[in-house]
Amino acid sequence: MITHCGFVAIVGRPNVGKSTLLNRILGQKISITSRRAQTTRHRILGIKTHDHIQTIYLDTPGIHRQGGKEMNRIMNRTATRSLVDVDVVVLVLEGTRFTDEDELALQQIKRQTAPVILVINKADKIKDKEKLLPFIAKSAESFAYAHIVPVSAKTGKGVDELEKTIETFLPEGPGYFPEDQITDKSERFLAAELIREKLMRQLGQELPYSLTVEIEKFTEEQGGLHIAALIWVEKDSQKRIVIGKKGEKLKEIGTLAREDMQKLFGAKVFLETWVRVKSGWSDDVRALRSLGYNDDD
Ligand code: GDP
Ligand code: MG
Repeated sequence: MITHCGFVAIVGRPNVGKSTLLNRILGQKISITSRRAQTTRHRILGIKTHDHIQTIYLDTPGIHRQGGKEMNRIMNRTATRSLVDVDVVVLVLEGTRFTDEDELALQQIKRQTAPVILVINKADKIKDKEKLLPFIAKSAESFAYAHIVPVSAKTGKGVDELEKTIETFLPEGPGYFPEDQITDKSERFLAAELIREKLMRQLGQELPYSLTVEIEKFTEEQGGLHIAALIWVEKDSQKRIVIGKKGEKLKEIGTLAREDMQKLFGAKVFLETWVRVKSGWSDDVRALRSLGYNDDD
């Protein structure tokens, strides 16, 4: 029986490791990650239930400066809206760096009343450990954080302690989700995201931002899951890059995505991928809606 349950928003500028942290907490890859900013485009719930406690994490696209495109506008609105009605806010920083964009995220947080835990992530990368204590002291002066916790989402160090700290702020109440549910997203969505992650990681500059993935078929048949995916790009030249010489690139992306899907779904996966051109999709509200992007969830 669940006795405590609450919502936790994970916020911060792009690339500080918010999605990596969520995956580490859940022990499953439900939120895709990469070295690029803007990897996370949707709001994703990660649900963890143990010892009568259900913690519901919201991973958000990072709060970043407004760009011109419709896509950026939707991502910023998704990030700031997730601050409404949460029990705890986790603000993630990258090591002992505090940039203007971190300041922007902190300003957004100040508009709400839930306790804020400051997470100093990528602690494994901090070379000069002597900088850590003064940085913690300075941060504590700049805002009334409920706690300041250094962690490494990559190695897992400090993450248990962070979870325990978060749990102390959760209100009493029944769970919102069944105990075995780990996300609010469908398997279709997760499959598309895993393909998008491989595309983001495998392809050169610029291309990934003008690309999205749609799952056309997702069926359970004898022997496993049969999944067909369409990769939408904006230009013919981009289509050629995604496919690669003799189809090598697309094949590699498909193989990596399929392996991750098998791990996540615990079943054999048969994956087909196709590349299609649809010009202007990232700046077209209607095209974005039809591909599943919206800012009202
Ligand atoms: P997000 O944009 O805040 O969601 O950031 P991601 O989770 O996508 O991570 C951005 C990059 O930082 C990825 O390349 C991650 O592998 C890397 N990263 C995340 N956490 C850590 C960490 O604790 N240590 C190190 N060394 N790298 C990390
Ligand atoms: Mg992310």
